[in-house]
Formats: sequence, structure tokens, C-alpha cells
Amino acid sequence: MKYSQFAVIGLGRFGSSLAKELIAQGYEVMGIDKNEEIADDMSDELTFTAAADTTDEEVLKELGIRNSDCVIIAIGNDIQASIMTAILLKDFGVKKVVAKALSELHGRVLEKIGVDRVIYPERDMAIRLAHQLVQPNILDFIELSNKYTIAELSAPQKISGKTLGKLDTRAKYGCSVVALHKQEEILIAPSANDVVDKDDIMVLIGTKQQIERFEDAVTD
Ligand code: ATP
Repeated sequence: MKYSQFAVIGLGRFGSSLAKELIAQGYEVMGIDKNEEIADDMSDELTFTAAADTTDEEVLKELGIRNSDCVIIAIGNDIQASIMTAILLKDFGVKKVVAKALSELHGRVLEKIGVDRVIYPERDMAIRLAHQLVQPNILDFIELSNKYTIAELSAPQKISGKTLGKLDTRAKYGCSVVALHKQEEILIAPSANDVVDKDDIMVLIGTKQQIERFEDAVTD
């Protein structure tokens, strides 16, 4: 489902960055913060801002929050406020509630309340950074399951000019190239004759170990 109306509760560093990025992508965003100064500061940048405490049921009703397609709770330190806001939003029947958790326990409580997606920005960013630091050619990755990962790898000089057939990642390393992002175009399900050039982005699917073995073998 595609959302068009978002509400972001808590306009700290995370919430304000998220709200601004959604606006930049052309969506309507209501920003709410209990701190009036913070809400006012963002009023020129968002569709609508309100200074309100979202643990107050009446206030949430007045704001018409149930009309939002997706509400993101970006309250951090005040765990009680984060949890109470989540309960109210789920009771209102908001279609999708996303909440930021500061700890595993906070996240578990949010899941039990029925929050649709719990995110751990600091933890996840640290994990991503650690992967990128030890494997500099890996640009990004998504864990599909405990076993399988999709990773974007920037093609190093060592394999520049080689065809996918010659690289034969499936037979040699066990991982497959599902897309090849070249400067001008993206080749989905590329063929054995397609040539990899330096800095092309190879989208690989396989286990973490298979992708790491390939990355180790091709790094200059
Ligand atoms: P960040 O890392 O994103 O800066 P944080 O994790 O440190 O944030 P806080 O600063 O505690 O989290 O909260 C983010 C924002 O949420 C703050 O601007 C705060 O005023 C707002 N906030 C906290 N409680 C409520 C509430 N009950 N209703 C509305 N806004 C709230």
C-alpha cells in the first residue's frame, strides 16, 4: 500500500530528518511535538505542525490523527510517552504505526501493543556502518531472512570488463547477480554476456558468507 499522508510525532533529530525527507519526496506531513518551540521551528518546512502532548487522547482526536495513513512515533527518551502514544494510535485504528525503540525491551513492548514496525535507528546504523567499514565495496544490504541477504556491491577494478558468465558467481561462490546497475541503465536479471564495469552496482543475493567470499575474492 502506498501512503500519502504521514504524521511524525517527536521532532528531535530523527523525527525532524524523517519528516523533512518525506516532504522532499512530495508527501504531506503533519509534525507534532510537545515542545512548542520545536514545533514552531518546523512550521515552515512541514505541511502542518502542532505543539501537543500525544499521550492525551483528546488532543490526538482533535488533531485528526486517525486520518493519517502512517504515523511514526519518534519519541526516544520518554519511553512511557512512546508506549502510551502507540496504544492510543492502535486504538484509533491508524492503518500503520511505526515506532522508534531505544532498547530491545522498549521494542518488545511496542511489538506487543501491535505497532506495525519497530525500528532501532542507532543500532541499525551502527550495524550497517560496521559492515561497510570491514567490507568497503558493500554499499548496502537487506537481510531477507536469517539465511539470505541482498547486497549492493560496487564493482572494483579487478573485475572491470569481465562478463557475468566469466565471473560465474553462482558456481564459484554460491551467490547470484540479480541486477546490474550501470551508469545509464539498470539491467534486471542480467545475462551471462553482460559486462561489469568498474563502479557498476552489482545486486547480489545469497547467504552473507557467499557474498563475503565473493567480495573478498574480487577486492583489489
Ligand atoms: P533524537 O535522537 O531523534 O533527537 P531522542 O531519541 O533523544 O531524539 P527525545 O529527544 O526524547 O528523543 O524525543 C524526541 C522529541 O519528542 C522531542 O523533541 C520531544 O519534545 C518530543 N516528545 C517527547 N514526548 C512527547 C509527547 N508526549 N508528545 C509529543 N512529543 C513528545
